[in-house]
Amino acid sequence: MRSLDILDSGREHVFDSIVEMASEIADAPIALISLVDRDRQWFKAKVGIEAEETPRGQSFCSHAILNSDQPMIIEDATLDPRFADNPLVCSTPNIRFYAGFPICHLNGTPLGTLCVIDSQPRALDDRQISLLKKLTKQTEHLINQRSSFESQLALHAIENSMDAMFWVREDSSISDVNDRAAENLGYTRERLRKMRISDIDPGFPLEAWPSVWEDCRSKQFLRFETIHRRKDGTTYSCEVTAHYIELNGVKSIFATVRDVSEQKKSASWLRGIYDHSQNLIGLLSLEGELLLANRTALEVGGVEPDQVIGKMFWDTVFWSHSEELQQRLKKSIRTAAGGEQDRFFATHVLPNCEEVELDVLVSPIVINGEIKHLVVEGIDITDANKNIQKIKDAEKRFREVADINTPCWITESDTGCSWLNRQWVEYTGVPLEDHLGFAWTSVVHPDDLEATNAIYLDAVEKQSDFSLEYRLRRHDGEYRLHRATGRARRDANQKFEGFVGYSVDIQDERTQKLALNKLNAELKKSNEDLERFAFAASHDLQEPLRAIGGFVQLLQQKYDDQLDEQATGYIEKTVKGVERMAKIINGVLSYSRVGSEDVDFELVDLNLVMDCVQSNLGELVSLTSATIEVSQLPTLHGNPSLLTQLLQNLVSNGIKYKSEQPPEIKIWCESAGPNVKLFFQDNGIGIADEYKQQIFGLFKRLHHRSEFPGTGLGLAIVKRIVDRHNGSIDVVDTESGEGSLFIVELPR
Ligand code: ADP
Repeated sequence: MRSLDILDSGREHVFDSIVEMASEIADAPIALISLVDRDRQWFKAKVGIEAEETPRGQSFCSHAILNSDQPMIIEDATLDPRFADNPLVCSTPNIRFYAGFPICHLNGTPLGTLCVIDSQPRALDDRQISLLKKLTKQTEHLINQRSSFESQLALHAIENSMDAMFWVREDSSISDVNDRAAENLGYTRERLRKMRISDIDPGFPLEAWPSVWEDCRSKQFLRFETIHRRKDGTTYSCEVTAHYIELNGVKSIFATVRDVSEQKKSASWLRGIYDHSQNLIGLLSLEGELLLANRTALEVGGVEPDQVIGKMFWDTVFWSHSEELQQRLKKSIRTAAGGEQDRFFATHVLPNCEEVELDVLVSPIVINGEIKHLVVEGIDITDANKNIQKIKDAEKRFREVADINTPCWITESDTGCSWLNRQWVEYTGVPLEDHLGFAWTSVVHPDDLEATNAIYLDAVEKQSDFSLEYRLRRHDGEYRLHRATGRARRDANQKFEGFVGYSVDIQDERTQKLALNKLNAELKKSNEDLERFAFAASHDLQEPLRAIGGFVQLLQQKYDDQLDEQATGYIEKTVKGVERMAKIINGVLSYSRVGSEDVDFELVDLNLVMDCVQSNLGELVSLTSATIEVSQLPTLHGNPSLLTQLLQNLVSNGIKYKSEQPPEIKIWCESAGPNVKLFFQDNGIGIADEYKQQIFGLFKRLHHRSEFPGTGLGLAIVKRIVDRHNGSIDVVDTESGEGSLFIVELPR
């Protein structure tokens, strides 16, 4: 009856006409199409009666349908024990006569009757009965047609459903499927009708089927997820809703199967995002119970799901370290449960005692306009905070560096100055804001402005470092010379951004340098004057000295016999003094010449120089029985006559300052990068350490001339020659500890 969906449906003209006709045929005041429901009879159409329905207990029709083959005709209800005391008989409508013609469903199930009723006892003749039977058939046809229309609708729905549908027998064989099922699995419907559930669902092997059947039968309804296998062997996830149906003794399970593989995929995507997120994510009930927590949250908390899931969130390990945070969380949960997102920052202590800073966001999840759950998201901002701190530290360091005692500035590529340090402001006495852009030029000396601008703008154009000198006005109004240095600034992509630079006050330095230059120039001049004087004096002294020497010799020769011993002694001393004086004058002359004369440099073979020296010293060598051992010497750039003097002075000293042994001089050389080292070693008296630096001074002598004659100029001249050749000279201890070793280093 329910499947026909006719009960409590509205009035329909065709059924109204039938009851009117039945009333006419039977000549009865009441005619009804009465349908028997579980506990009532309901009138689809009626004539001659007000009621819409009557209780089933009072119903005549429920008796009439007991034998659906025959009409039930009661000629006088008061005489029939089944109805004599029926309220419908005893009172309104005071039924006496009743004739009910059963109406059946296509499948034979009785549905109700077409009945005629009179308040008078009476009968129907054969013609009336025959006509009413025909009218009943007509009614039955109309109702069943309705039924088949509904069935068609249902069929249409089944065939066009997005879900696959299966009818399965008790033995797990498939009795029917819809087109969607065939399409999903890749089999034809005919083929599927010959298959069993185990053929398409590997999760339900034949032996497991009886328990599934029984489960569904006892619960009438099952819903579960499973995997179906297509004809080509591929599988897909599906959700099955199975109903147990028993109709006319036929038992079956009707199952709708929905392909959820796409949903599953997106769910697994979501799950992946959720679990792999670096953020801590938790799902809460509106009351604050933790329903889910992602992997990151569990890892950070160092907990297993069962230690936290199902607990009030604030009671979990994530918050237990701080009462204050627990209160803050509760407040956020209340706010979010009220529909508003809430956010706060929290410091969490990890199980390993490390601290993490979290940015916590609690948001409501709204589905169909209703707040269903809350989601809590914790973003670890520890590193971000550390980075901010690093940036702050770096900036502090920059400020400290920038506040050094030098005016510093930053300019942009096109908008001029964007920053100046405190020293600039203090130095110029002009506030920062009055110097930004190109306003800083106001403190540049007007005469230097054009050149300063030109150099700066040229550097901007070339995007290159620059350095310039200009006068900058100090706070006291004095213009002071500065050297500005600008370094080009570039971003990560090497794009020019402007300059960073500093300005150094070089006024004092410059003044000192100028004073020093002046002093040097004066000193040089005075030295030159002195040299000139020494040269001129010694040159001019030679002549009178020669005259004195000559006249003394004449005096000695001419008056030798008249002079007594004392006078002869005086003359001898005078001659020695003159000789000595001549040596000194020659020495001073040589010394002056080395410093003042322009000398030509050429390639000089020192072996030849040494040959010349040996020949010059031949007499001294034989007198002293000296030996001179010379190894191969180099050729170098120098002046031949000065180099001869240099070598001769050193060799002659080596012979002169001899010990008791005959002098032995050794000369050799060593390469020293671009230079050459010449070694002069003797076996003489040696030089005490404390005098090693003094001996190169003018007139410096370590012995009295009674011990070793000399002027004290030889080594001074040597030093001067070495200097003129850009070399150096040193005296060091010999390996044996005896004698002296002079080392002269000269460029090649
Ligand atoms: P001098 O004319 O007295 O030799 P030098 O300028 O040549 O003047 O030498 C300065 C002093 O250095 C000498 O008085 C001597 O004491 C010392 N001197 C120079 N060469 C040697 C040497 N080869 N051995 C020891 N002493 C030396």
